[in-house]
Amino acid sequence: MTTANSAPMRERWRGKGRDGDRHPVGAPALYGEDRQLPAIYGGRVALDVELEAEPHSADVREFLWTEFTRNGAMSAPYFAPLLVERRRALAQRAVEALLEDVRRDTGHVLTVGVTSEAPSSLEPAGHVSVGDETIQGIDPSDIFVETAEGLQCLLVDRDRLIWPMCPEHRVGAHAMRTEAGAVWMCSVTSHEVAPITV
Ligand SMILES: [Zn+2]
Repeated sequence: MTTANSAPMRERWRGKGRDGDRHPVGAPALYGEDRQLPAIYGGRVALDVELEAEPHSADVREFLWTEFTRNGAMSAPYFAPLLVERRRALAQRAVEALLEDVRRDTGHVLTVGVTSEAPSSLEPAGHVSVGDETIQGIDPSDIFVETAEGLQCLLVDRDRLIWPMCPEHRVGAHAMRTEAGAVWMCSVTSHEVAPITV
């Protein structure tokens, strides 16, 4: 937790709190009247150099605020395991929903795993993946798109199953994020084939 590698991350988190110090885990959660969330500054949440996301959705803000009020301000090594668990849980939900869609559409009953590794000195942010796709999002819609891509590629490579298909153009659809959330989009004319409902 206190390797040389994590020092820059910690520095980025420190000094963002009201008193400039990392708030001990379990200590009173709020910084006085300001109710600042030190994890968020400049409109972005910074976890480490490679792990940045805009807390644009209410769900992400709720997640960050809940963990902040529960734990106090946390350095990245404290926060990373919570993020791994969030990604794993949302990816698992998405996999289950997608496999049910596969069964409905094709009749195939398949299994796909979600792989997760706890943060370590080699991977300070931990690792979550579905097939070969690394789950990097914080927002549910991003995680659902990444999960859908990983699952889709795995079904092609492992099961020789192209799913889902655009019923109109008979080509495979691809997952992407839109204003409305995660959707399957046709590769021919970019029309929406179906929402990714989790
Ligand atoms: Zn189409």
